[in-house]
Amino acid sequence: MVERNLAKVEVASSSLVVRSRTDQGRPRAALIAFRARTARVLAVIEMSQDLLAHALAAKGFMPPDEGAALFRYAVRQLPHGPVLEVGSYCGKSAVYLGAAARAVGGDSIVFTVDHHRGSEENQAGWEHHDPSLVDPETGLMDTLPVFRRTIAAAGLEARVAAVVGHSVSVARAWATPLAMLFIDGGHGVAPARGDYREWTPHVMPGGLLAIHDVFPDPADGGRPPYEEIYLPAVSSGRFEEIDAVGSLRVLRRR
Ligand code: SAH
Ligand code: MG
Repeated sequence: MVERNLAKVEVASSSLVVRSRTDQGRPRAALIAFRARTARVLAVIEMSQDLLAHALAAKGFMPPDEGAALFRYAVRQLPHGPVLEVGSYCGKSAVYLGAAARAVGGDSIVFTVDHHRGSEENQAGWEHHDPSLVDPETGLMDTLPVFRRTIAAAGLEARVAAVVGHSVSVARAWATPLAMLFIDGGHGVAPARGDYREWTPHVMPGGLLAIHDVFPDPADGGRPPYEEIYLPAVSSGRFEEIDAVGSLRVLRRR
């Protein structure tokens, strides 16, 4: 679809933008009639260009097409309850999710859980280590200051709530049904297994389970998100796959 052939009409709430195909500059009433006649209408809530720029600039591990999918699914789910992310890191994916919460409005909120000490692969000597993220006082990784800067700069502090702690401990005390769970935490066998076991029961019926870094082919990357989260979720019969974008898998709870 060509951008200039799209017209935007604000409907119902300020957050919902309906775009429909049209010729140049039809007036609003004509557009709505056009829409009713052809039914070729897409209800689209777009990520603001400003927030997209923040997401793209943020430090982290979330390709733009997968981030866009997170935004899209979060927009769909947030009217039903909160979104929770495991693995905040420096806030990159949280900006995509927080942008959805801002677009949907109301009480929409995204929780994001991380101990902010980094995964195995973020530690010194490993592939994804970034020395600028080490706290000189403790010598430990600390991504929380960068995370806070990312979310504050994006203006999303009212929509993204950081939970600083170990994923499994938080999950065991968690009680609110989740409209969407996004697992992008520790990629070792034990953390992946723990996240699957402790978090997935919190997804509400009809809710979504999104999993990052799912690599069915070992040549593409580590196995645990695939073997310890994706496969058990599918074979449990509790979830069905509805989408795949890059290494992102989106499943729906039956
Ligand atoms: N979603 C991020 C990337 C997450 S990287 C992005 O968009 O860039 C994975 C994160 O999971 C790391 O920040 C690490 O600290 C966190 N993590 C790993 N194991 C964890 C655990 N058991 N509890 C809490 N956080 C954990
Ligand atoms: Mg990831």
